[in-house]
Amino acid sequence: MSAKYNFCAGPAMLPQAVMQKAQKELIDWNGLGVSVMEISHRSKEFIALTTQAEKTLRELMNIPANYHVLFMHGGGRAQFTNVVTNFLGDNGRALYLTSGQWSSSAIKEAKRIAGEDSIDEINIVETVEGLHQVKLPDLHSVDGDYRYVHYCANETVDGIEIFDTIESPWPVVADLSSTIMSHEIDVSKFGLIYAGAQKNIGPSGLSIVIVRDDMLNLPSLVQSSIMDYTITKDNDSMFNTPPTFAWYLAAEVFEWLKSVGGVGAMEKLNSDKANLLYQCIDELPFYKNGVAVQNRSRMNVTFQLVDNNLDEQFLAEAQAAGLVALKGHRIVGGMRASIYNAMPLAGVQKLVEFMQAFANKHS
Ligand code: PMP
Repeated sequence: MSAKYNFCAGPAMLPQAVMQKAQKELIDWNGLGVSVMEISHRSKEFIALTTQAEKTLRELMNIPANYHVLFMHGGGRAQFTNVVTNFLGDNGRALYLTSGQWSSSAIKEAKRIAGEDSIDEINIVETVEGLHQVKLPDLHSVDGDYRYVHYCANETVDGIEIFDTIESPWPVVADLSSTIMSHEIDVSKFGLIYAGAQKNIGPSGLSIVIVRDDMLNLPSLVQSSIMDYTITKDNDSMFNTPPTFAWYLAAEVFEWLKSVGGVGAMEKLNSDKANLLYQCIDELPFYKNGVAVQNRSRMNVTFQLVDNNLDEQFLAEAQAAGLVALKGHRIVGGMRASIYNAMPLAGVQKLVEFMQAFANKHS
């Protein structure tokens, strides 16, 4: 293990085993004498890679046969746009649930494209005794003719995660950018799942879309062909040249995840990592976290120093101890430890030891 632990929210650390393998085969992939970056995306070798990647992803997430898996350009935000353009033709309307920064950005984009009047929103976060918590509305009692309801399962900036399944009379469209494959989910509960790759999948720029077959019958707006779900599906995600190196790394991450026991094993590890860190925050009066226990993110642990005059010193000393990228998002401040699948338990243990020592020294 390298001397540093990288807690960046994204682009985030990738599994070290994957990085080492990629380094080894960078200039000679599969015995071809050239890099995977330098071959045709339509070559039989690359098609074998993409076929295997989809197979392994389907296994890992237990994706039912009536769902298509698309590898698309543009990261998470491209899907903010795509769900609107693909599903809201013919004056369609959609309902958006707001829980923090990213769900709000998705709404902003949806309104930009479809118009304010086509998008309704419900704020699902309330503050109870100073703690943010999610209160899901009974969507069956909401009046409206919506093509889908959109939510963000893990608010990367705010450190708020929604573990409950959204029960809805309309198809559920979920932004899983920062939580995909971190715990088991029932894919059949969703109309569409999307995720930008740069946390639990691979390098940035790529996004993964898992879409139920019947969703593709919804009327769409005119849009760019490379962002059209049906065209992407009909062309095996190769209507134009895909980001091949990112796809290759994603494929390697899927194989790694399978080799370490799959999503179930990862869920257990992620829960252990998050519990360890939240326990440290709760036990030491030096630190605090403003999210109710049931909605604390297992991927992005946000916390504040009670004395925020010590923030810069905390970050500098952490950096010197090999614990990097702990600064919270500029909008919310404080600290954030992003502990995605690739972060080993040892990294969190080291962070906890550092936090204890820092608190002792400055209390
Ligand atoms: N959704 C969520 C939950 C995210 O965390 C992010 C990025 N951090 C995005 C969307 C946007 O992804 P991108 O920058 O790839 O467009």
